Formats: sequence, structure tokens, C-alpha cells
Amino acid sequence: MPDFRSDTVTRPTPAMREAIAQAEVGDDVFGDDPSINRLESHAAELLGFEAAVFAASGTQTNLMGLLAHCERGEEAIVGQQWHTYRWEAGGMAVLGSIQPQPIDNAPDGSIPLEAIEAAIKPDDPHFARTRLICMENTTGGKVLPMDYLRAVRALAQRRGLATHLDGARLWNAAVEVARRRSQNEREGDEAGSGGADPRAVARDICAQFDSVSMCLSKGLGAPVGSLLLGSRALIQRARRWRKMLGGGMRQGGLLAAAGQHALESHIDRLALDHARARRLALGLQAASRQHPDSLQVDTPQTNICFVKVSESIAPAFAAHLADHGIRVTGRSGAYGSGMVQRWVTHLDIDDQDVEDALTVVQAFFDRLPASG
Ligand SMILES: *Cc1c(COP(=O)(O)O)cnc(C)c1O
Repeated sequence: MPDFRSDTVTRPTPAMREAIAQAEVGDDVFGDDPSINRLESHAAELLGFEAAVFAASGTQTNLMGLLAHCERGEEAIVGQQWHTYRWEAGGMAVLGSIQPQPIDNAPDGSIPLEAIEAAIKPDDPHFARTRLICMENTTGGKVLPMDYLRAVRALAQRRGLATHLDGARLWNAAVEVARRRSQNEREGDEAGSGGADPRAVARDICAQFDSVSMCLSKGLGAPVGSLLLGSRALIQRARRWRKMLGGGMRQGGLLAAAGQHALESHIDRLALDHARARRLALGLQAASRQHPDSLQVDTPQTNICFVKVSESIAPAFAAHLADHGIRVTGRSGAYGSGMVQRWVTHLDIDDQDVEDALTVVQAFFDRLPASG
């Protein structure tokens, strides 16, 4: 039963369960859960920050970060499609009285520098005070270019703004950038000499931000948990917000041990998820070749493959997949009257799952009368 709905569906591996079973615990609200303390300092060191705080979810760490940056009546610049704006129930506005300033995303997932610059409000009592620029990487499975992130950082510094990264899938971005750098090195391109370790790339990404939120419970495969990273002062403020949000955990070391194991063992294997997503995309294209307008498959950069399914086949195709136990998410109305499916690869999807899914897809198109 391959489940391509999200990389959040992974279950802990036997080794992760062992790490959970062995975890030393204490009361984290008193600051003495050794497993949480270890995870927080490990992650801060790994990513080049002074401090980190462990919390229940990425929604929570994003919110804690936003609340730690912005006062009531201040403004955060966000992407129209980004999680912090669109998928977190309006938390920054509801709970922080922070005004989000959304900007339309470009096709590569970024928000244009000129649009950011134009959205920054002058110091005038009519306006909210612009305080923060948010980014998201990966965003919709796409990697934001490093030069772009550096330019955003420079713009923020020039205008006296802080920067926050929703790096729910930071490690997917880092692994893909590392792969590209290694490839450039092999091809003798000097621009590729920045090193090909995903950890070095992740530090490079994080160096452009005052705070970063990252999920342990997506591609990294932990059952629960996210981290917020930043300066000691910012993380101290975020801890107060976590408590107020009801997010103070007690013997949370059981969860932190899973996160620690994930950071130690599950980063490099993300390259497999990316390769499988590319294989899936190629297979979907090949299977629908006789029906040129039925599927439009985006080439995935990381572990997420978006597929536009035409109106003529969308209901039947979705039903066929469901009947064969293949789970994907699909949003109707996002693409004319057709559907946009999202296929996500992760720790619990192997090569065989991908091939089995493609066999099922092929059977659907084999039965479809040829068009064109
Ligand atoms: C999943 C995700 C989050 C956080 O989600 P939670 O389910 O709250 O952990 C934040 N940002 C992005 C881009 C995400 O994909």
C-alpha cells in the first residue's frame, strides 16, 4: 500500500524505536530533559546557531519564531503560497496581531526582490511597521537558489529587517544543492567548489537567516517534532511563547531521541527520495505518452512531484489509484476543472513501491482509448 500523500506519513524505523526506548528523560519545562537538551545543542551546532528549541510541530516553531521577531502591529513579508501565510490557520494574525504582507510567488517558488522591496512600508503612522522577511525552502519541493537567498539577506540588512526561514524541508534543499555542487565539481566547474556535504550546504543556507524552523517529522522520519534555531535571546523569547501556546512538554526526550537519530542517520538518504521522485515523474510521463493531454508532470527537484490531471480523466484516474491502494493527494479546481495531484516520496517508499505504482498507472492508460 504505497502512501505518497506526504513525507509526514513515515513510521519510526526499528533503529529509531530503539533510540526512543533507550532515551534518558527529565522534565523539559524545568530544562532538565537530557535528550531534548542534547538535540537542541546538537542542532544549533550543526547549523551554526547559538541556540535551538524543540517543539511539537513546524506550525508551532514558525509561530514561535514569528512571535519572537514581531510585536503587535508589526508586519512580516511572506509568499502568497507559503505555509506561514496560507497553511497555518492565520496564526500570526490571530495570535500575534502580526500583519502578513503576502507577495505572489514566481514560478521558481521565490518572491521577487523588487516586490519585497516595494512592499516594505515607510515609517509613517498609517502603516504597519515592516519587521521581518520570511522565506520557505524547499517550497513546493523547489529549491530556492543560494544567490537569491544571499540577495534577500542583503536586502533585509540594508533595510534593517530580520529574516526567518521556514525550513520544514531544509534538508531536502541541502541534499539537492550538495548533489548539484558535486556534479559541477565532477564537470570541472569552479563555481562548484563550495563543498558537497549537505551539512555544509545547510549551514550556508542558515547563515542567511536570523531564525530557522525545521521539521524532524517529514523526510527525516521522526514521529513528532520540529526545531526553531536562532540567537540565544531570540530562542529565550520563543520559549516563553512555546509555554504560552501550551507547547511545553515534560518527558519529551522520547521524541527528541527520535529526532536525534533522524539527524544522525537520515539526512544523506534523502537523495534516494529525490531519485525516486524523478523516476516516478519519468514513469508517469512514459505511461501517459499515448494520451498527450492527460497528464502534465513537473520535473521534481526534490521529493515532491506535482501532476496536473486533465478534467477528462481526473475522476477515473483518482478512483483507479485508490482502488489499487495507491494514496496521493489531489486538489480539484486548482487547475481548470482538472486536478493537481501531489506524489511525495519518503523513508517508507522504496524502489519497488515506485515500480508497483507505475505498473498500476500503466494499466490505467493501457485501457484508455488512444487519443490524438
Ligand atoms: C509541513 C510544513 C510545515 C509544518 O507543518 P507541521 O505539520 O505543523 O509540522 C511548515 N512549513 C512547510 C513548508 C511545511 O511543508
